[in-house]
Amino acid sequence: LWQDVPLAPPDSIFKLTAAYKADTYDKKVNLGVGAYRDDDNKPWILPVVKKATQILLNDETLDHEYLPITGLPEFTAAAAKLILGADSPAIKEGRTVSVQTISGTGANHLGALFLSRFYKFNGAPKIYLSNPTWANHHAIFKNVGIEPVEYPYYDPKTIGLDYTGFIGALQEAPARSVFLLHACAHNPTGVDPTQEQWKAIANVIAEKKHYAFFDCAYQGFASGDLDKDAWAVRYFVEQGIPLLVCQSFAKNAGLYGERVGALHVAPPNKETAERVKSQLSVLQRSEISNPPSHGARLVSLILNDPQLFGEWKRDIETMAGRIIDMRNVLYKLLTEELKTPGNWDHIINQIGMFSFTGINPEQSKALTEKAHIYLTANGRISMAGLNSHNVRYFAESLDKVVRG
Ligand code: PMP
Repeated sequence: LWQDVPLAPPDSIFKLTAAYKADTYDKKVNLGVGAYRDDDNKPWILPVVKKATQILLNDETLDHEYLPITGLPEFTAAAAKLILGADSPAIKEGRTVSVQTISGTGANHLGALFLSRFYKFNGAPKIYLSNPTWANHHAIFKNVGIEPVEYPYYDPKTIGLDYTGFIGALQEAPARSVFLLHACAHNPTGVDPTQEQWKAIANVIAEKKHYAFFDCAYQGFASGDLDKDAWAVRYFVEQGIPLLVCQSFAKNAGLYGERVGALHVAPPNKETAERVKSQLSVLQRSEISNPPSHGARLVSLILNDPQLFGEWKRDIETMAGRIIDMRNVLYKLLTEELKTPGNWDHIINQIGMFSFTGINPEQSKALTEKAHIYLTANGRISMAGLNSHNVRYFAESLDKVVRG
């Protein structure tokens, strides 16, 4: 039995972390994993999360019973408001379906599974993914029998958005195609469309009756402002574009291991929403029965208490602010001090946790082998891995590999 099971390669990001941990060099730097670190390279428990944890510990009314199949209602309702906006037409019209999921990955999976069962694909089931995208997107859709196809997104020449290619793909795709869009802080490139570009993208999507599958893993993390980072999703809802949103609280609440997320679907009316919800419940029941309670209770407390919510916003600003600072410091070091050959404007123009440096796989390998700096072969760095102690070492090492 199982003799024919082929050996699968290890996950590249987790492999990178293991290699970093095994390295004994004192100046080693991990720019692989997309998890926030403070200025001392330590995981950061948000002060508001500490406070909410204490409140839960002292709450004697809580127990360990099962949550409903679709999750903690006060969490899903508040989570919908956070991403769609409290005055969203979809919420006001009672046509939002929100299901608590196993973080953003679970939301992507449930959304994909739902589409695989109920979306009226124009031909064989396909999803258009940005080239490049979070590698897991490919696996998640393949798992449910939806074929991933790519649309142009990143232009290596400008280290920016391939806007013309993107719009062209939207126009050329058959009507009613499904496009996965990163709501903000595109992973892995850090390149987002401007608001004007989003408007044009929305126009074509509406014209062609495409379906927008939004993935939002970094709300607040991109700009430090929760509303600003939700702009694209809210604009699409206002335009009446059919969509769903996958939401994660891993990054913006630092709850990586608690797996807190939600899937929000916005059908055209209340009656359809009820039917959609009933089917999502059936799917969820067979997959996880019901979602875990602890993380959802924490986030629910934070979202529903104005004072805690205010504290959370400040914590988000701390994280986003530190990342933006690192972008500025790195940019200055490369352009003013080291005068590293090439244009480095993208370091400050890109947004969120990640930055595509524009270096090639050989240069990326050289950074790891010569300088003990761990990053993915595509040249993506997690800005959260940089801090005031290692940014100069990183800039100097990058300068060396660029000069060859
Ligand atoms: N989508 C994107 C684009 C991501 O970058 C991530 C995290 N790397 C996720 C979804 C899901 O993360 P999680 O399951 O930890 O919420």
